[in-house]
Amino acid sequence: MPARNILVINCGSSSIKFALVNEAHSQFTLSGIAECLGHHDAVLQWQRGGEKDSLMIPNADHRAALSQLLPLVQGAAGGKLHGIGHRVVHGGERFTRAQRIDAAVLEAIRATAPLAPLHNPANLLGIEAALKLYPNLPQVAVFDTAFHQTLPEHAYRYALPEALYRQHGVRRYGFHGTSHRYVSHRAADMAGLSSGDSSWLSAHLGNGCSTCAIVNGQSRDTSMGLTPLEGLAMGTRSGDVDPNLHSHLARTLGWNLERIERLLNHESGLLGLSGLSNDMRSLEQARDQGHAGATLAIEVFCYRLAKSLAAMSCALPQLDGLIFTGGIGENSPLVRSKTVAHLKLLGLSLDKEANARCIRGVAGAIQSYGHPRVLVVPTNEERQIALDTLALLDG
Ligand code: AMP
Repeated sequence: MPARNILVINCGSSSIKFALVNEAHSQFTLSGIAECLGHHDAVLQWQRGGEKDSLMIPNADHRAALSQLLPLVQGAAGGKLHGIGHRVVHGGERFTRAQRIDAAVLEAIRATAPLAPLHNPANLLGIEAALKLYPNLPQVAVFDTAFHQTLPEHAYRYALPEALYRQHGVRRYGFHGTSHRYVSHRAADMAGLSSGDSSWLSAHLGNGCSTCAIVNGQSRDTSMGLTPLEGLAMGTRSGDVDPNLHSHLARTLGWNLERIERLLNHESGLLGLSGLSNDMRSLEQARDQGHAGATLAIEVFCYRLAKSLAAMSCALPQLDGLIFTGGIGENSPLVRSKTVAHLKLLGLSLDKEANARCIRGVAGAIQSYGHPRVLVVPTNEERQIALDTLALLDG
């Protein structure tokens, strides 16, 4: 059977990220983004075999953008597209694995929207547009939350009255599941271990950041909760704060919910601490030049990350390794070394040269000789979504 092609789609409220994945190739055949959808400056940008190109698509909505994309995808796939895999942020408790999309699955994704009011409706826009444009193609939903449905109850319940959980779904769900799953499998391969018989700590550090404890291929705890705001300090998200901060700000500054949500989601984290940027590259440069805010932001980021990893270690029977992934995890020797320096009690220590070598897509082991494994593993959520889609087509 010739190698199959899967189109992977990740829809936001005004953007569509896409990648055409061929099961036999590690590089994407085609990838890109349609941005500013619904606006006069909507644009489709793509990359194919090292060549970049773009097309203005004024006022295009999701469906119009996808229909512009269709000939590009068909051309790159040689007319042979086998399925579409959609990233869906929230699958609630209903979805513990990827699902072939049908009317019931669509309805369940819609019903989960109160848990992810910004993300699931946007994901649905993409799915509905793709179903109209490609009615005969198998389409699969892959959920960010699904991997974490193996959390034990003591890890996913908040210390709140039971009715809030039973009647309103208030519990910890976790996100970034596709990435944590992908990198933990790759880490087991790199270490010559079976993923079904090994234990990992994983740190996904991109614009959003989370940690995960993975035992025998299953998520046992993770730092994000009901929403992706819980846990680590991130690009613009605060991560954990005192839950009374809401009422404190309301009482003392008269802020309403919308203002507080904007603060915690868009004005905090690295950006809020540094007063400069949410981009780790800029912060590292500013720190080198003595910028106090950038220096503090990096210190807080690494210390809180280390604290979260230490907390996650409670869920492991043993430690086969710590995994760094995501834009920061894959590219910042500084963040990796500062974080590991706080984890001496776990026995962790880095080899300076190996740590410096693993950047820009280079994977590898970076621990000092005789210390527990620390691996840099580039994530590839699109490939994992394509593999899940293919597995359902085969199943
Ligand atoms: P992601 O969301 O996975 O694309 O990651 C985005 C984050 O990765 C941003 O904070 C970037 O600043 C960070 N990043 C990308 N390249 C580097 C680099 N060379 N050094 C430090 N941070 C980086």
